[in-house]
Amino acid sequence: MLLEPNLYLNSVKDITVDILRENKIKGLILDVDNTLIDFNENILEGVKDWIVEMKKQNMKLCIVSNSNKVEKIQMVADTLQIEDYFYFAKKPLKCGFKKAKKRMNLKESNIAVVGDQLFTDVLGANHAKMFSILVKPLNEKDIWITRLKRPIEQFFIKRYEKKRGTKDVF
Ligand SMILES: [Mg+2]
Repeated sequence: MLLEPNLYLNSVKDITVDILRENKIKGLILDVDNTLIDFNENILEGVKDWIVEMKKQNMKLCIVSNSNKVEKIQMVADTLQIEDYFYFAKKPLKCGFKKAKKRMNLKESNIAVVGDQLFTDVLGANHAKMFSILVKPLNEKDIWITRLKRPIEQFFIKRYEKKRGTKDVF
């Protein structure tokens, strides 16, 4: 099912080394808006330490964002010391994920995509045959287009929770 994440977590910080090892993940593709930063562009507290830990475990990291605001994406990449980033990536299309895959020099089966949206991050990841991790959005004050999609996402998320009995993650 293309709209179903492989994993559904509260936050990017809940991704542990064990989870990654269990699923043979060697690289992470990270979304920015509502995953790493909130609407006011504040970086999620504690995410810097989480990145340091991931790097210690030799996890490869790459930002793939749909945002066209290059300064913003650059600021996040610089602050979190993530060398590789792609903006205006047109997720769920595969092009951004393919570029990230090439940069990380990994197989798709060893890459996890982390993001807060079903219709961009999860759909794109599943389509690209990568491991998909959906996280809870950091801020409800989304831009209008995202706001329109949220109720539809909620429908699929509820269905997913019912099926897997994972309601306790919230
Ligand atoms: Mg996002």
